[in-house]
Amino acid sequence: MTTPAPRPGILDIAPYVGGEAVLPGVAEPARLASNEGALGASPRAVAAYQALADRLHRYPDGGAEALRAALGRRHGLDPARITVGAGSDELIALLVRAYAGPGDEVLHSRHGFLMYAIAATTAGARPVAAPERNLTADVDALVAHATERTKLVFLANPNNPTGTYLVRDEVRRLRRDLPGQALLVIDAAYAEFVARNDYSAGDDLVDETDNVVMIRTFSKIYGLAALRLGWAYGPPPVIDVLNRVRGPFNVGAAAQAAGIAALEDQAHVDAARSHNDIWRAWFTDQVKTLGLGVQPSVGNFVLVSFAARAGANADAAERFLKSRGILVRKMGSYGLPDALRISIGLEAEMHAVVAALTAFLEQAA
Ligand SMILES: *Cc1c(COP(=O)(O)O)cnc(C)c1O
Repeated sequence: MTTPAPRPGILDIAPYVGGEAVLPGVAEPARLASNEGALGASPRAVAAYQALADRLHRYPDGGAEALRAALGRRHGLDPARITVGAGSDELIALLVRAYAGPGDEVLHSRHGFLMYAIAATTAGARPVAAPERNLTADVDALVAHATERTKLVFLANPNNPTGTYLVRDEVRRLRRDLPGQALLVIDAAYAEFVARNDYSAGDDLVDETDNVVMIRTFSKIYGLAALRLGWAYGPPPVIDVLNRVRGPFNVGAAAQAAGIAALEDQAHVDAARSHNDIWRAWFTDQVKTLGLGVQPSVGNFVLVSFAARAGANADAAERFLKSRGILVRKMGSYGLPDALRISIGLEAEMHAVVAALTAFLEQAA
């Protein structure tokens, strides 16, 4: 007997490995490996989730009417131009599946989010990486790597794992100089954390053009990663395509209800943003003081480089942090083997990471 073989290319995909979440022997490790919201979900979202417990036999609203209306109100957008996904990961996969296939190219920046290349390969398309400048997406390089075969261009803005971002005018220039047949996908998973007046999450560019789509998530600042909830805002033809290829009930009822309640609790979002502002700045300073490299970040995570420290390397640091009950993300799969990505957690967790890094560098010296 032989097991059937999948389509060509599928077995070349290295499975996505998420941030570690459990540490044997440690009941409550500091989970700083997946950029989950430090403050957790809004109590109102939790209550909305719990309120669904006695209605689990009912299918969800396949059109997510109430959730799309709430998103439209919150962001000042037309709900007809919004569709939802089981996390933005699902929307990435659906966009690639719908717009690219064998012979096509999917463009992203060198240290962009890993799911873009995985989704491209899954669809039989070729992922193409454009070099970055200072760990930041480079508009000229992206444009130079676009061809008539480029069907999608993914820009995470801000980018994970680097924490860097492109200003509004640069994203507009990218759209202007890319070939028109290439759909530009702006993945603004961390938009709510950014407080810069030269930044846009991308909805304005969606409105100005016919070939830009913005994707967003409830997994980061809203603290709802467990429920898998994301959304896309795009031109009506793109939203129509997504609605044709998605499963009819791709987002569960609990996710929809919790998402609506979370949108109604902007005080919680503001608290999460303030918390992040304070501890990202503090942590960045501490890391610099330790003599490690740190990339200025606008997200809820910081990329820490060990390249400049003789005798210390990222893998050894990751193991040391783990021995102290702290989980962070190794970056080898992103082509950054000298770095660790560390999420901004609670105050005590940030103090614990700095204490552990200090001890690590002392014993490595
Ligand atoms: C976390 C993340 C996502 C995935 O979010 P989900 O909605 O949980 O699937 C998408 N894009 C980027 C850049 C991310 O960091």
